[in-house]
Amino acid sequence: MSESIYIDGKFYSEDNAKISVFDHGYLYGDGVFEGIRFYSSRIFRFDEHMTRLYDSAKAIWLTIPMDINEFKEVIKETVRKSGFTDGYLRVVVSRGRGDLGLDPRKCKVPTIVIIPAKLKLYPQEAYDNGMSIITVPTRRSPNEVLNPRIKSLNYLNNILAKIEAFNVGYDEAIMLNQDGFVAECTADNIFFIKNKVVYTPITSHGALKGITRDFVCELTEKYGYKMEEVAVTRYDIYTADEVFITGTACEVMPIVTVDGRSIGCCGKVGEITKLLIKGFVELVNTEGELV
Ligand code: PMP
Repeated sequence: MSESIYIDGKFYSEDNAKISVFDHGYLYGDGVFEGIRFYSSRIFRFDEHMTRLYDSAKAIWLTIPMDINEFKEVIKETVRKSGFTDGYLRVVVSRGRGDLGLDPRKCKVPTIVIIPAKLKLYPQEAYDNGMSIITVPTRRSPNEVLNPRIKSLNYLNNILAKIEAFNVGYDEAIMLNQDGFVAECTADNIFFIKNKVVYTPITSHGALKGITRDFVCELTEKYGYKMEEVAVTRYDIYTADEVFITGTACEVMPIVTVDGRSIGCCGKVGEITKLLIKGFVELVNTEGELV
């Protein structure tokens, strides 16, 4: 079995890749992470992912014991070791090994893990015909509790929402914020299109500032459509012409029904969504830093 999982300076096989049970990432979800894609041996939006990782770390008072360039080299080496030309990387920096108390000061060295993998989150059929989603009761953590812009190892808020979706037969769901505005989905950002203008919720309403979200915003403007970050209600989503979601794992996924309402014209994948998916696929294979 190939030894391509990086843990603190060494590479391990899947069976031997292990960390301490005293790691606060395990005990408390105390840490940060990134999910990064590479296509045709090019790491997609590498600098943007690394900047977000270092910002998330800073926000939780965690110093990553490597500078960004050094870290990028280790990630590239991991991709090379995997032998994959297309794949997904999970980059995790946890608080490290401490005692059973919460005190992060007792964790002297953060643990760094990089896992390369193959990923196909949804079947092709979903991309061709669109997915159905619902709104779930669990609200997105308010900024004052745990700012959703921190990509932390605390995903229980999203997992609870995901369970609510799974329990009624859906794979993805809209999460509202405390005030009832649409924040995002459990692991994806959401967009809607009305009268040829593309809208997405403002991040201060409880969304992660998705790297795919930012990329799609650029793409939208490149194709000459107007793009706006706004306060979004479920009414806006139900009455939209098109809806889609974005994320590193799902990429750009059309949404054709929301809470039982068909979106746009008879719940078919919209034309602007199709254009954005095509542009996305074309560009990810050519832009990005070579490994
Ligand atoms: N929102 C949440 C809660 C996420 O976990 C993710 C990433 N899976 C996203 C949005 C999408 O962000 P990105 O495009 O950077 O993957």
